Amino acid sequence: MTVIRPADRYLDQPYWQHLAKGTLHLNCCNDCGGAHHPPSPICPTCRSFNTGWKPASGKATLASYAIARHSVHPSLGDKVPYIITLVDLEEGVRLVSGIPEGMEVDLHVGMALECKVVQFDDRFALPYFVPVGA
Ligand SMILES: [Zn+2]
Repeated sequence: MTVIRPADRYLDQPYWQHLAKGTLHLNCCNDCGGAHHPPSPICPTCRSFNTGWKPASGKATLASYAIARHSVHPSLGDKVPYIITLVDLEEGVRLVSGIPEGMEVDLHVGMALECKVVQFDDRFALPYFVPVGA
């Protein structure tokens, strides 16, 4: 499976380290309790610097999706068409994701999804969201 991956120096960041261990964690504020993404050293809600990481429930709702029929990067040239999803996590965070390569799904906006972390090597994994029970 071909994916565009972050530069190796970013894989030492907590978000990627948790994914490499098989779980999606979200950057959370230890003062107001809110989760936010992308990760930030400051809470976008209350401006606190007291942030940390918590495991996500993995439960999400499909907010939108698109079928890419033209690749946006040469490495994806032989992967089109592929599905890009916009998912709303139970924690109030919205993520851009996708459907694992080769998985046949019938999507509709508002459907329940669950996180499936796909490991590419011992340092790199991505969170995908698939229909519950798929
Ligand atoms: Zn906060």
